[in-house]
Formats: sequence, structure tokens, C-alpha cells
Amino acid sequence: MKPIKKIIITSVICIGIALLAYFAWLFPFYEFTSNDFTTSIEKIMSAEYIKTLVPLFIIISLATAGIIITVFIRKFLAKKDTSRFSKVRTDRSRGNSPKQKPSIFMVLRWIIMIIFAFMMIWGGLIFGLKMASLSIPVLSCPWNTEQMTESSCYYLSHLNELVELPWQNILLFLGSTIGFTLLLGRAICGFLCPMGLIQDITDKIRQKTKIEGIKMNDKMYEAIAPVKWCMVLIFVGLCFAGGNFCNFCPAVAVSPILAGMSTSLYVSGFLMVLVLMGGFFKRRAFCTICPLGTIMGFFHKISLFRVKKDCQSCTECGACYEACPMGIKMIYTEREKADVTHANCIMCGECVKCCPEDNALSLTFAGKKIYTSSRRKIMSGYEQEGKK
Ligand code: SF4
Ligand code: SF4
Ligand code: SF4
Repeated sequence: MKPIKKIIITSVICIGIALLAYFAWLFPFYEFTSNDFTTSIEKIMSAEYIKTLVPLFIIISLATAGIIITVFIRKFLAKKDTSRFSKVRTDRSRGNSPKQKPSIFMVLRWIIMIIFAFMMIWGGLIFGLKMASLSIPVLSCPWNTEQMTESSCYYLSHLNELVELPWQNILLFLGSTIGFTLLLGRAICGFLCPMGLIQDITDKIRQKTKIEGIKMNDKMYEAIAPVKWCMVLIFVGLCFAGGNFCNFCPAVAVSPILAGMSTSLYVSGFLMVLVLMGGFFKRRAFCTICPLGTIMGFFHKISLFRVKKDCQSCTECGACYEACPMGIKMIYTEREKADVTHANCIMCGECVKCCPEDNALSLTFAGKKIYTSSRRKIMSGYEQEGKK
């Protein structure tokens, strides 16, 4: 595509997203019911809670319908036009590796993700408002009002409102946000973010249903990159223009509802349907354009979590690249440097899991190896498949 055409298309997409975020409240289908914006343990234990969950059921039903329709369309296209359709790489999500016994690292990652999602939604109700001082990006959605009031996610996207806070709160916001991001980097995405968990669950469902996913190639990642940067600009830029990223943040359509609040954010809900559908066919699809993830990526280069490669042990098989949900090619192509941590790396460990060479890839924290590739584990997977 010619650069000028690329710039025009990107600009149109950017303006479209910005307008959607800015004027979402004008849409006839936008309704933000805030008259019952309270929650309590009694409420989530009552029959009323089922009523508040209705928008979520609608979102899940629409996403399921969208997935089924897409599967049929793909099958139809595959029959009709093999030449074009065959160019889309399918994703079997484990690269070329067989299914392995889950490693301690992977089990821990899932447990931590589930605990943090639970804490984000119901933590404040159970442990009280002191949770508010935990200003971790992604974990502090202000729409769960009774839970996280000093929300770093909210203030990151409303920097103009930050100046209205007392200086102690500004320091707390800046200190905890920068501190946690420096310490954890995008491991926050791999371990703590509930949106990441939702997308990992949709990917697991796809694997169980044996429906083939879509593997994005370099060109697709390149094409989507401008959208990612537009999202960042809108995330930190709209606040200065008086806009509101929360108007279309897909997470807002889920967490307050689960917390028991009667909300219905239809623009966010519509985008959540797309996130669920995208996450089903392409693991962590939303993460490839998420503005918060991109911002955290700025700090990831100096965080304590690293991906290390022993280039001598690497046989250039490419299994790590095939398995990486963020499409990071350098873990495969790097031939000299030991540190292959990329700004987009969410520390999910999939590359390590699929690498067939002992110690060729490792995840480290503060210099200590926490997960290392193992030939024995890969071979045990082949043995298990052979027995079936
Ligand atoms: S990229 Fe965004 S949505 Fe994805 S895990 Fe990170 S913060 Fe969450
Ligand atoms: S490089 Fe490895 S740890 Fe990082 S996102 Fe890709 S698969 Fe996950
Ligand atoms: S790091 Fe491991 S998985 Fe990646 S190319 Fe080298 S041997 Fe293959």
C-alpha cells in the first residue's frame, strides 16, 4: 500500500475512533444508567443481581452469535475462494508443539489472573475502601466506585482532572503507578489484567471447540500499528479535549455489572462484543491495540521481568514465534543478544512453553529464572499424544 494511502486510511480510522469516544453519549443507543450505582454484599447475594447481569448475558449472546456466523462465513469462503482464503494463516495456538502437562508457571499465572479479576470486581466490597490506595493500572476501574476511588487507569485517561487532586493524592498516583509499572512492566498484562483473562478464556474455548483461529502475519501487525497509536493518543489526548475514554472502554461494560451495579453502556458493550469475538479468533486481539498496554510497554524495557535467550541453544525452529500471542518475531530472529524482551511482551510464557531446546528461552524476574524451556516437557507431550 502506498504511504499516502496508508496515512489517509489511518487518519480516517483515528478520527472515527476519536469521534466515537467523544460523542458516544449522543448516540441514541447510549444509555448510562447511574441511578443505581451502588453495590453491597447483600445486593450481589440477592435475586436483583441476576437482573443487573442481563446486559452481560446480551453481550455474551451477541458475541456467540457473531462467532458462529463468522465460522460459517469462513467455511463458505474457504469453499468458494481457496486462492484468497488460503492466504490467511490459521492459529492452532500451541505452535507446532503437542499438548503438554501444565507447568507450575502457567498454573500460577492463571490462578493469579483469576484472583486479581475477582479482587478488581469484588475486592472493595470484601476488603473495604483501603483497596483504593492500590493504584495499579488496569486494576483500578473507577466505575466500580465503591471499590477503587484513586484509580490510576481513570487518571491516566483524565490527566486534566489530576491537577484538581490534593498533592498527596497526586504523589500517590504517580508513585504507585510508575512504581508498579517499573517493577512489573507488561507482566501486569500477563498476570493481572482482567481483560487479558477474558481474552485468554475465549482463546481456551476456541481451542476446546477445535475451531481454527487466525494467526496475524507481519503485514497485519504493521497495518494495525497505527490504530494502536491512535488509541494511545485518544487515551491520553481526549482528556485534554474534554473527552472521555471511559465512554467506549470495553472493560466498563463488564466489571461494574459483575460488581452488581445497574449500568448499561451500549457503546462499550458493543465494543466488548468485538473484543470477545476478536479474542476468540486471535488470542489477545484487543491487547494488540490496547492503549494502556502500549503505555505500560514504554516502561517494560526497564522492568524486572525479562525474556532471555541462549542463542547458542536455539535451533531456529520458529516455534516461539508461532506460539507468541503478540506476534513478537525478535524472540525467534535474534541471534546475538541474550535479552529479547520486547515492549509488546506480556510475559505469558507461551514462547518458553513451546521452545523445544533446553534453556534456549527463559523468563526471569530480577535476574532469577522463573520459567525455562525444556526438551523433556515437549517430548512428554509427544509421548502423551502417541499413547492416545
Ligand atoms: S494490553 Fe490492555 S487489555 Fe491487554 S492485558 Fe494489557 S492492559 Fe489488559
Ligand atoms: S515473547 Fe513470549 S512471553 Fe512475551 S508475549 Fe510472546 S510468547 Fe508471551
Ligand atoms: S528460541 Fe526455541 S522455539 Fe525459538 S526458534 Fe530458538 S529453539 Fe525454536
